Amino acid sequence: MLYRKIRNDKLSVLGFGAMRLPSKNGRTDEKRAKEQIRYAIDNGVNYIDTAVAYMNEPLIGRILSDGYREKVKIATKLPPWNIENMEDMANIFKIQLESFRTDYIDYYLLHGLNHSSWEKMRKLGALEFLTKLKNEGKILNAGFSFHGDKKTFKEIVDSYDWDFCMIQYNYLDEENQAGKEGLKYAANKGIGIIVMEPFRGGNLTKNIPPEVKNIWNQAKIKRTPAEWALRWVLNHPEVTCVLSGMNEEEHITENIRIANEALPNSLQNEELELIEKVKDKYRDLMKTGCTGCRYCLPCPAGVEIARCFEFYDTAHTFGNKRQTQLLYALGLGVIHEGTPAYASKCKKCGKCENHCPQDLPIMDLLDEVSKDMEGILTKTIPPLYKVYLSFNKIMTRRKANKLDSNN
Ligand code: SF4
Ligand code: SF4
Repeated sequence: MLYRKIRNDKLSVLGFGAMRLPSKNGRTDEKRAKEQIRYAIDNGVNYIDTAVAYMNEPLIGRILSDGYREKVKIATKLPPWNIENMEDMANIFKIQLESFRTDYIDYYLLHGLNHSSWEKMRKLGALEFLTKLKNEGKILNAGFSFHGDKKTFKEIVDSYDWDFCMIQYNYLDEENQAGKEGLKYAANKGIGIIVMEPFRGGNLTKNIPPEVKNIWNQAKIKRTPAEWALRWVLNHPEVTCVLSGMNEEEHITENIRIANEALPNSLQNEELELIEKVKDKYRDLMKTGCTGCRYCLPCPAGVEIARCFEFYDTAHTFGNKRQTQLLYALGLGVIHEGTPAYASKCKKCGKCENHCPQDLPIMDLLDEVSKDMEGILTKTIPPLYKVYLSFNKIMTRRKANKLDSNN
């Protein structure tokens, strides 16, 4: 296993993403998950990423018993959507320590920041909370994961002495979200970078269009699309660790093999050119032509224009429309804590079209997105999410009170 330095620590270049563990009969298959996670740790993986939202922290705590906790760095996150004040932060953290059966968390993140959740967390004192936890030795490294725009990313980076950040990065998302610009910006400040979604939610490894397959077949060294995607991320010296949400034994073995070999700057020019050709082909196959630059934002009606197009393009390029419709409803329906940012919210003011360097007919495209991607899911998910949030807040407070009375 190769390791890369991060401040005073070293992380395996491959991290275990525990978001999608193996399942059986509709539930997580704990026995298989335990074997997989322990196998990865035994083979050098020393970073495991989880979150309250993945609803498996207690399960990971059980898996890491018998001495495995000491062999691995636990990364978990503080969910902005469950927070109204400092007390909520303290309650969630208390429950997390209990779930992991530990006294400290190695890598602790503010989860999924974007412009609005960053503003909210900053005002509620999340940075002071992180500092307090660090001073008390309850977290060793403070960071944030990110799904917003470049301007917000830089603002967050500049606002605190972060140890690390976590960004979505793959060869199709070089310009999206924090992107390459954000990657370099954070690295220049000495902040460690954990990469999520190296396979873009699995889209770069499944249902490969024949036009893309033809390009991969031109490679001198034959590799799977997953290997090309992982090697492309690890080719960046700025990247500390890349997360893969592994739940198949053969994928774990393959990823570990790659993580034993993929040094920074190890891809040859002709290999990088091949990946560039694949990227161009995917771009040709996409319907909107949006590059994700976000110059059109913010929209006064709250439409997340770039993300609407990203979901729409994904649905039509990778042949997984139903799954993407669900992700569209979830991702855009709850992005501002239950206030939807769907294409159908467009008020046709025309402001965005004046700023698009690609000259895209944004309003017409949003009509297409709205007709194609919206329906029962987009109507029901935001209100259901609000109910879930209220329920979750009550349960968190109850659990924290119970822990207090037991101590
Ligand atoms: S035209 Fe629609 S999407 Fe564009 S800025 Fe106006 S309301 Fe927002
Ligand atoms: S619609 Fe145009 S301005 Fe907006 S993100 Fe896409 S390419 Fe950029």
